[in-house]
Amino acid sequence: MNKRDYYEVLGVSKTASQDEIKSAFRKLAKKYHPDVSKEPDAAEKFKEAQEAYAVLSDESKRRQYDQYGHAAFENGQGGAGFDFSNFDFSDIFDDLFGGFGFSSGFGGRGRRDNRQRGSDLLKRMDLTFDEAIFGCKKEISLETDFKCEDCNGLGGHGEKTCPTCQGHGTITREQNTLLGSFMTRTTCTTCGGRGVTFDSKCSTCKGTGRVRKTKTIEVKVPAGVDSGNRLRLAGKGEAGSNGGASGDLYIEFSVKKHPLFERHENDIYLELPITITEAVLGCKKEIPTLYGNVKFTVPAGSSTNDKHRIKGKGVADVNTARKGDMYIILNIMIPKKLSHEQKKLFESLAKTNLDNGQSDKIKKYL
Ligand SMILES: [Zn+2]
Ligand SMILES: [Zn+2]
Repeated sequence: MNKRDYYEVLGVSKTASQDEIKSAFRKLAKKYHPDVSKEPDAAEKFKEAQEAYAVLSDESKRRQYDQYGHAAFENGQGGAGFDFSNFDFSDIFDDLFGGFGFSSGFGGRGRRDNRQRGSDLLKRMDLTFDEAIFGCKKEISLETDFKCEDCNGLGGHGEKTCPTCQGHGTITREQNTLLGSFMTRTTCTTCGGRGVTFDSKCSTCKGTGRVRKTKTIEVKVPAGVDSGNRLRLAGKGEAGSNGGASGDLYIEFSVKKHPLFERHENDIYLELPITITEAVLGCKKEIPTLYGNVKFTVPAGSSTNDKHRIKGKGVADVNTARKGDMYIILNIMIPKKLSHEQKKLFESLAKTNLDNGQSDKIKKYL
């Protein structure tokens, strides 16, 4: 039997790039795949193209072929050519046929099982201002599919190698058709592709490995979280099916406002009301911080909106634990009502010169 040259089979030049080789093979596979082709010699052509591709797509095999021709792969069985039964064509076929239902021809990715990861879940959690800043433990109630505890999510008891597929997870069949014989590989229906079955199905979960329940989950809220932050609890989401991994649970926080403190990132703002004389003369005030009361000096000659920083009295960062700062914003309260005595004092104050020359600026334009 005269074997055709692999380059000729694929219709590419000896210097073709890997991309050209792949695309030539894709075209042929589409045309001759026995599952779709109506050509009379499809199976033969398909097999020929697979063999050529298996060699030329592998740089080292291609070099051997370039040097020795078909002789490079002869193995004493009368020039059987390159044995490509273990070659993985699945990436090509998956994209050609969308990966659904078609066999992968000869060789495949191996075990394709039906294990599925569970979904990720999102729950919201309300926190008080202090709970967010200092961290806390809180319980939430979660209703979802949990891993069955009786069978550890496997769906059965007494695991053993699947007798139908001998643990391969797939069944390979040789089909003889008018077009010739070809191999198809399908997922084993006995074990769903996992390669194992059980002596008995788990009665608690009816073989699904999951049980719907409402559970109370304790969440350790780290110090420093803020509204909109999400905490990921790996593997605490919905259980996977057929022994697949569980999804993750995300907790999204919503933090209540504090009556006094305002938080911006890791800094804390406090508006401090002072009287007009405190602003003019200065004073000492006791103020609250996140970490207890401190003495704060209002300097003489303060104005409304003057901003003073107290270092390190902000929120500890949720990731680095580095503390933000606290800012005191002064707010001078102008009295709306004065007693008779206060009025007299203001009137005598008014007779003194309180102008620092600032009003000269205006006078120029009068
Ligand atoms: Zn099986
Ligand atoms: Zn079970």
